[in-house]
Order: sequence, then structure tokens, then C-alpha cells
Amino acid sequence: MSSCSLHDCTLEVFENKDKCILHCEKDDWYDIHDNVKIWNNKKVNDFWQFIQDDLSTIKDISLEDSYVLSERQIYSFVIFPKFQKEYLYNHYEDNRMDLATNFYSFEYHVNDLNTVFNELNIMFYQCTFLEVADFKKYAFKKKLNFMLCKFYDELKLPNHITEPLTIDKCFFARNLFLKGINFSKKTVILSPRGESSLIIDNCNFEDDFLLRLEKLNLLAISNTSFKNNVWILGNNSQFDALDFHNSSFYNLLTLKNIKIQNPVTFTDIRLFNKTRFSNIDFPVQNRETARIIKDSFEQENNIIDANKFYALEMRQYDKEITWKDNFKEKLIFKLHDYSSQHSQNWLLALFWILILSMGCGFIQNYFLDVKIEFMKPLIANIFGYCFISISIPLLIDNILENQKLKKYTLSFVFLIIGFYILSTKDLLLELPAKAINPFSFMYSDSHINGLELIFKVIIAYLIYQLIISIRQNTRRK
Ligand SMILES: [Zn+2]
Repeated sequence: MSSCSLHDCTLEVFENKDKCILHCEKDDWYDIHDNVKIWNNKKVNDFWQFIQDDLSTIKDISLEDSYVLSERQIYSFVIFPKFQKEYLYNHYEDNRMDLATNFYSFEYHVNDLNTVFNELNIMFYQCTFLEVADFKKYAFKKKLNFMLCKFYDELKLPNHITEPLTIDKCFFARNLFLKGINFSKKTVILSPRGESSLIIDNCNFEDDFLLRLEKLNLLAISNTSFKNNVWILGNNSQFDALDFHNSSFYNLLTLKNIKIQNPVTFTDIRLFNKTRFSNIDFPVQNRETARIIKDSFEQENNIIDANKFYALEMRQYDKEITWKDNFKEKLIFKLHDYSSQHSQNWLLALFWILILSMGCGFIQNYFLDVKIEFMKPLIANIFGYCFISISIPLLIDNILENQKLKKYTLSFVFLIIGFYILSTKDLLLELPAKAINPFSFMYSDSHINGLELIFKVIIAYLIYQLIISIRQNTRRK
């Protein structure tokens, strides 16, 4: 008999294969009937017998030399077939022999179940699990580690994991469900692969939780509490959706380098400590989500990102209130939006001030025949053309960038000043300045009519918005 062709494996080849029973391909260990795999029981049982014999040896050695238990038990490149059927312990019958499945075996000479698997520091390295990998019944007392493994069906973990768990760069053909599990020690999930989703439901993490994402359809966390720090780190590659629901974060929550295509939802999320969001890019589903993220940026004095999510929060609020049911709120909201984008856009406020004041100056000049000592027309013309020519490259840039109309404000500001000076020759902007000055009527003797008063009030409101917006953009705690 020759030995397994896998490097470093000294086991005998299995049947007519070039590899041993652990490492050989198992494509011919089952038949497919109506899309269901019917496994060859003899081969499956032989496989598990081999695993169990190996663990029996470890148990025997450990009785004399307990050091063996502190070493790492590594299963590398093993292709696991179907797991054996698990039986429940029956209080009224002695069915311990039935419990001897998969990594447990029955030791006839001591008349006991061999559970040495629990005592070992287990590592699965580049293993393949062709069917459900059911680890539910085990009580791991040392670290459990899956590295570069492939799961073609579900991975089932025990309800209590009392030691550190690492799932490192594993491939999941189906979703990875962590459901109803209490994790006592640090839990690390690094770059799960495959077109799968990670769904964490009804879990409790007593220690740190680190999740590094590369590509994923969905990350959903619900009804879960995180007692210690949580890091969710992306690598800027985009994934589809993020959904946090009814969960508590008692310590630091960090979300970093995450890009998501679909709107993100945070509902009933309780944050008791700091949250750190950095380099994240996603649309938000509801106002609460935007508010949570904005608050976290504000805590960090990251005003630019806080303002970005404040604007998103406002956009969501806009969707929530309707003209029909909340007329007053909607009116104020819309005024605030169009005048300064909720105090985020001081240029927009300036734009309106200029439009109104210059419009007023234009009317006074042309229709009311208000006399002003104008500069020489030639100089006024030169300045007018200057302003217009500054606005043109800005306008072209706006058009090429395909910006929304609200972003055109700067180019419009120059354009308006240019045209105003050209048409009125009012180079020193005397008429608009008079129109802007909201207090002019208080000390002048000239009368003021109702129309002018409304105009002054609007200008005063816009100036107030301009000041607030500038302050908002430079605010520091
Ligand atoms: Zn082998």
C-alpha cells in the first residue's frame, strides 16, 4: 500500500484513491436522488471511526501524559463527509453508546464516552465540510479555530462558547447563522467568503467581537447584546446591506471603511458608550439611523461627516412630514431647506440675499429711477465682464460634474453680480447694500411701506441663516 499523496500525510491511501480516508475527494461517496445526497453509510462510518480512533489514542496518552491536552489538535485539509446522526441523551435508558458519534467515541474497556475532543485546542485548517457541520453538542474548553475552511452547508455551533472562537477567511456557500449563542470570550470572524450573509440573532457577546468584512451580501444583527468592544471593519469593497435591530452595545462600537449599496437601518439600537464611525459610505433607511451616526461623528468632533449625516437626517424627516398633516412644520422645514439646506449651505443663503437685493436694486434703477452716483461705465463694464468670466469655468465644472442645481450656487453668485453691474453700472453695489441693510428704515426719515417691510424681514431671515450656516460649518466644541 502506498501512502497519501498529500504532503506530510503518512496515512495509507483509501481504496483506489491516491489519498487517505481523511483527505480523499468524497464525490463518489454518495448518490444523488431527487436532488438529495444519499451517502454510503459504510464509508461515512469508516471515516468517523478513523477520527474516533485517533481521539481514543489521544485520550489514552493523556491518561499518562496530560501535556498532550495542552497541544493543539489540528485537522488540516480534511474533507468531512456527512456528520453522523446525533442522538439525544435519554435519562431513562443508558444510551451513552448512541452518543458516540462524530468526534465522540465509546470506549468499551472503560465503559465510557470519550469526550477528549472537548479538552483539546481545536484547529480546522483548510478543511471542507460537504454537509452540515454540526458542533452543537460539544463543550469546547479551549480555543476553537476555523481557518480557510469551506462550508457547503450550515455551520452549527454550541449554545455556550466559553472559550475564544476564530472563524478566519472561511467560505460559506450558505449563510452563516449565529443564533442563540452565548460567547464568553473574544470572538473573531475574519473575511467570510462566498455569496453569503452573516446573520447574528439572539446572541450575547460577553467579550470583544471583531468582524472584518470583505464581501458579503448582508450583515444583520438583531436581539443581541455586546457587553464589550465591537469592531466591524470593512476594506472599502462594497457589500449589499447592513441591518441592526433591537440590539445593545455596552461598550465601544467601531464601524470603519464600510461601503454599502442599499439603505442601512438601525432600529431600536441602544448605545451606552462611544461609537466610532469612520470612512463609511451608505444611504440610510430612516431618521434614527442618520441621527445615531450623526451623534457619533459629533462626539468625535468630526463636523464635516456629522453635517453630512445631519443633512441625511433632515431628508428623512422631510419624507416623514406631509403637507396635508403637518402643514406648519413642513412649511418651516421647506423654507429652512431652500434658504440654507438646514444651515449647512451658507452659499445658498448668500445666493438668495444677492438675488433679492440685486433684483431690488435693478427694479429701483430701471423703474423707480433712483439716482446713484455711478462710477464710469467703462470701469463698471470691465468689472461686470470679470465676474461673468469667473462664473463660466465654475458653471462648466458644475455641468461636467453633473451636480444638482443646489450646488450651482457659487457660479450663480458670480454670474448675478456680473450681470447686475453690467446692466446698472452700480459698481459699488449701493442699491443692493441699501436693500440688504435690515435696519435702514429704523433710523432713516423716509417712509417704509408694507412691501418693503416684508422684503426687509425676508432679508433679515436670510442673513440670520447665513450667519448660522457659517457658524455650523466651522463649529468646534
Ligand atoms: Zn492523507
